[in-house]
Amino acid sequence: MKTGIMGGTFDPIHYGHLLAAEEARRNLGIDRLIFVPTGDPPFKRDITPAEDRYAMTLLATAGVLEYSVSRIEIDRKEPTHTVDTLRAFIKSGINPEDLYFITGLDAMLSITQWFDYEKIPELCTLVTARRPGYPVSGIENLPKFVRDKLKYIEIPQFAISSTEIRERARDGRGIRFLVPHLVQIYIESNSLYKKI
Ligand code: NAP
Repeated sequence: MKTGIMGGTFDPIHYGHLLAAEEARRNLGIDRLIFVPTGDPPFKRDITPAEDRYAMTLLATAGVLEYSVSRIEIDRKEPTHTVDTLRAFIKSGINPEDLYFITGLDAMLSITQWFDYEKIPELCTLVTARRPGYPVSGIENLPKFVRDKLKYIEIPQFAISSTEIRERARDGRGIRFLVPHLVQIYIESNSLYKKI
């Protein structure tokens, strides 16, 4: 049984994340995908409360049999580190050979700054998305033991980011069809991103 951990701030979750998750699931034969919204990201301030990001992730993934959402990082009181999350999943019975950690390319490129990053390639296979035809620059600077455990999935070009969605929501430019409908309703009815 292969398990994928989809790590991200998800502020908010959008179709780009879902597309990447689904491509990873299909291409790597992953049986179940667990979305793990970050709690208190070590390098970030000024983000939407974790409970809102968790709720949006639940709404975006509801009804998809292979998807679930974990509160593991949200419920941790200390700053969250990927290495601790992976260890917790392994402790719950998953073999490191069957564990995949999926996240965005920009995040993956900063992995050498993550807490205890040297241990991460021993705990899982790393997966990141790239767009077909776009060179992946920066990966060659990562240490070989990281590159050896890194797999790519190709996702269709999709110009969408959480930053842009927050700006559109703030400016009232509309976010329909960029995020799942229930996420759109959640953002609008809670006036998220109105003050960024
Ligand atoms: P981020 O800076 O918000 O995202 C970096 C880039 O990756 C953005 O372009 C983002 O797009 C994209 N992205 C983020 N998550 C993605 C996903 N699951 N699938 C596809 N694209 C994704 O990065 P982050 O969200 O804070 O962190 C990503 C993961 O790395 C989290 O699991 C986090 O815990 C981990 N991390 C760990 C440490 C540590 O252990 N010390 C430090 C940093 C990050 P959007 O902006 O559109 O989302």
